[in-house]
Parts: sequence; C-alpha cells; structure tokens
Amino acid sequence: MTVVQQLYDLLEVDEGIERCKQAVASVESALMDNRLLLQSQQMVEEARLTLKRQEVERRDLELTVESSQGKAALVQEKLYGGRVRNPKELENLQAELNILRGQQREQEGELLQLLEAIEGTQESLGNLENTLKEVETTWRREHDRLLVERERLRGDLALLEERRQRLSSLVSPGPLGLYNTLRSARLGLAVVKVERGICQGCRITLPTRVVQMARTSPTPVQCPSCSRILYIS
Ligand SMILES: [Zn+2]
Repeated sequence: MTVVQQLYDLLEVDEGIERCKQAVASVESALMDNRLLLQSQQMVEEARLTLKRQEVERRDLELTVESSQGKAALVQEKLYGGRVRNPKELENLQAELNILRGQQREQEGELLQLLEAIEGTQESLGNLENTLKEVETTWRREHDRLLVERERLRGDLALLEERRQRLSSLVSPGPLGLYNTLRSARLGLAVVKVERGICQGCRITLPTRVVQMARTSPTPVQCPSCSRILYIS
C-alpha cells in the first residue's frame, strides 16, 4: 500500500469520525430538548390553578348565597310573624324582602355560571392530563431510544478512533504531518482523487507531468493549485 493510499484511508476514517461526532452532538441536543414536555406540564399546571381559584370563588359565593337566604328568612319571619302590624312598617319589610330576594337570585345566577365554568375547567384539565401522559410516554420512549443511539455512536466512534490510531502509526511522520496540516487548513479535505486528469478538490486540469508523478512517486504529490495530496486509485 502506498503512502497516499494510506492517507486516503486515513481521510475516510477521519471523515467517519467527524460524522460520528456530529451525530453524537445532534443526539445530545435532542436529549436536552424537552420543550414539548415542559409546555404540556405548564398547561396542566395552569388549568389546576384556574380550578383552585374557581373552587375558592365557589365557596365564597355559596356563603354569600347562604347569608342572603338567612337575611331574607329573618325579614320574612318579621313580615309574616304577626308581631308587626303597622302597615308602613309592613310595607318597608316587604320592600326589603323584595330587594333581598332580587340579590339572592342574582347571586344564584352567578353561582350557576361559576359551576358551569368549573365543569368546563375540569373537562379541559382532564384532557390536558391525558395529553401530558401521552407526551410523557412518547418523550420517555424517545429518550430511551436516543440513549441507545448515543451508546451505539460512542461505540462506533471508539472503534474509528482505534482504527485511526492504527492507520496513522503506519504512515511516516513527514507525510502524516503534511496530511494533518492540510486537513486543518483545507476544511478537512486533505487527499483528493484525480479523475480523468482533474483534481477533484479544485477541479483544475492537472499537468500530465503532475499526474504521472502522482501515479509513480513514493511520496505524496500535491496539486499545484490547491495543495491537496493527489490520489490516483
Ligand atoms: Zn487541486
């Protein structure tokens, strides 16, 4: 195997490592992403708070209705009890009773509306809780899948890195140094194929002499235009 072939293999391994690292990073960012879960939890929490507030309101309103009923009963008792005989006073009592009954009807109407609102909140809370359960199940399943995927990728990465170690130990320091320099300077692409006399890195047509050298030279030959190491398979 020529040095350039070794470097080309190394490049393939390095590209594999790069892809693997990117995949690990994207799995990790997916593992961190729990927006949907948080959103769903928040909606349930909000509905619970609304319900709690409405329950407090309901108790208050029930007390108010009760107290209005009590007041009306007292006035009614006075009105029909027989102790008050003065027509003016009786008239006043009747007027008072009418006002109290009016208030009571209003309060009962409000209570009825509130009870309907509570029913609505309970229903939507139930729906939201069901949705949350589904979201949690999906999230947990996806989370487990991603953990397995990350393990697999880490395993692949370890194998590739081992392979890189082995391959680079075979290449002599000079060409390996050149490869590493080109890889960091040339956005990773250090070795390129030559196809029909054209450098596949920068697409120029190479002088025949360079192609010939690339084919026969025991040391790496670089493209005169982009400096990449030329590989003829
Ligand atoms: Zn080139």
